Amino acid sequence: EEKTPQDVLKMIQDENIELIDLKFVDPLGTWQHLTVHKSLIEEESFSEGVAFDGSSIRGWKSIHESDMAMRPDPNTAWIDPFMADKTLSLICTILEPRTGELYDRCPRAIAQKALDFLQAANLGDTAFFGPEAEFFIFDDVRFDQTENKSYYYVDSAEGRWNSGREEAGGNLGYKPRYKEGYFPVSPTDSLQDMRSEMLLTMAKCGVVIEKHHHEVATGGQCELGFRFAPLIKAADDLMTYKYVIKNVAKKYGKTVTFMPKPIFNDNGSGMHTHQSIWKEGQPLFAGDRYAGLSQMALHYIGGILKHAPALLAFTNPSTNSYKRLVPGFEAPVNLAYSQGNRSASVRIPIASNPKAKRLEFRCPDATANPYLAFAAMLCAGIDGIKNEIDPGDPLDVDIYELSPEELAKVPSTPGSLLEALQALEDDHSFLTSTGVFTEDFITNWITYKIDKEINPMRLRPHPYEFALYYDV
Ligand code: GLU
Ligand code: MG
Ligand code: MG
Repeated sequence: EEKTPQDVLKMIQDENIELIDLKFVDPLGTWQHLTVHKSLIEEESFSEGVAFDGSSIRGWKSIHESDMAMRPDPNTAWIDPFMADKTLSLICTILEPRTGELYDRCPRAIAQKALDFLQAANLGDTAFFGPEAEFFIFDDVRFDQTENKSYYYVDSAEGRWNSGREEAGGNLGYKPRYKEGYFPVSPTDSLQDMRSEMLLTMAKCGVVIEKHHHEVATGGQCELGFRFAPLIKAADDLMTYKYVIKNVAKKYGKTVTFMPKPIFNDNGSGMHTHQSIWKEGQPLFAGDRYAGLSQMALHYIGGILKHAPALLAFTNPSTNSYKRLVPGFEAPVNLAYSQGNRSASVRIPIASNPKAKRLEFRCPDATANPYLAFAAMLCAGIDGIKNEIDPGDPLDVDIYELSPEELAKVPSTPGSLLEALQALEDDHSFLTSTGVFTEDFITNWITYKIDKEINPMRLRPHPYEFALYYDV
């Protein structure tokens, strides 16, 4: 059900709302916001946007051309549950104020262009996405980012510690055993009430909620589930998901991290992403081929697998992402597909109803900007469909039974962010030739990630280097 600007203006009046919080996502996937008085929002705001200074946003315009406009999407209106004064929240897309066109570095605009491309190619009218973002709840995290120091520690909500600090106080008698967090009842699961509050709060923000549970890792790892949705709504929901989870945790005096691998040697946090294409209300991924898929779905998989090394620069865009993509922790390492095998990066969940036929790409993690990640995956899939890319044979064997020679034939995920960025540099016409991503965006992304993340990491002595070398 589409909402109109008039619906939102009426809501502001009927509910006696004074303040409107305008939220937008920056390229790195963090929400930024500006709160305005209701007098600044009129019908034109929903077409022309609201002016703001975009000069200090990471990866955006320089100071000499800082004027930008954000255009609220009327479908995203909800009362922000974390603001003391009744405030209406609206998610925005960024526009060039002079031309009124979509700003080509705005992730939400890029997501819109991916959808436009799908429709222009006449392959479908909707792409559904269902992200499953896992996260850890910690009691406390301290890190010192200053130039001369580099230490951190995290204490988990369940009394496990990461780097050498005994937990003082607290009831630590009931703890999940190693890799047995999924999913005994309370009191071993000490996070039930917090997760329930997170889930119910999300529902008030327009997210169609489904479930919540503890995850496998011992240190307070959790997952909440919401219903799959059309691409942009799914990305909006994921942003709302993170916002609600972090803010509810804060109320409990806890912190949350979506870092893919916060704890060494335990399961990491993924953001498996379910996806399918529909046309005129019909699911196009159901058919009579392998695992009940259509030929179109198999080609889509072919595109995802072919472009996976480059795709990961968007779906797994942090240095920490590659500490998760290792064998032994249910994270995928093989660039292959399978109906059951969870070590394969593409899994086809069992679904008897054709409407539920979809594929699950298991590589992504929640350091991804969902708009960019979904847009890039859709481009890769469309490239697979258009060029009829054969995904090869499914990887249905137990990989632990494969000989080293056989295993070596299965391509694996990139070993580092740098490798993924290099793959993106070599392979991005599937993103740019479609008009979805600009060449400028890709170049800027690669440079930003190397200069602002990879190099600063590389230049700092790592705590583990002290363990290895201090006494040499
Ligand atoms: N935590 C696992 C990962 O890193 C996934 C576990 C699951 O299948 O839910 O991808
Ligand atoms: Mg999970
Ligand atoms: Mg999954």
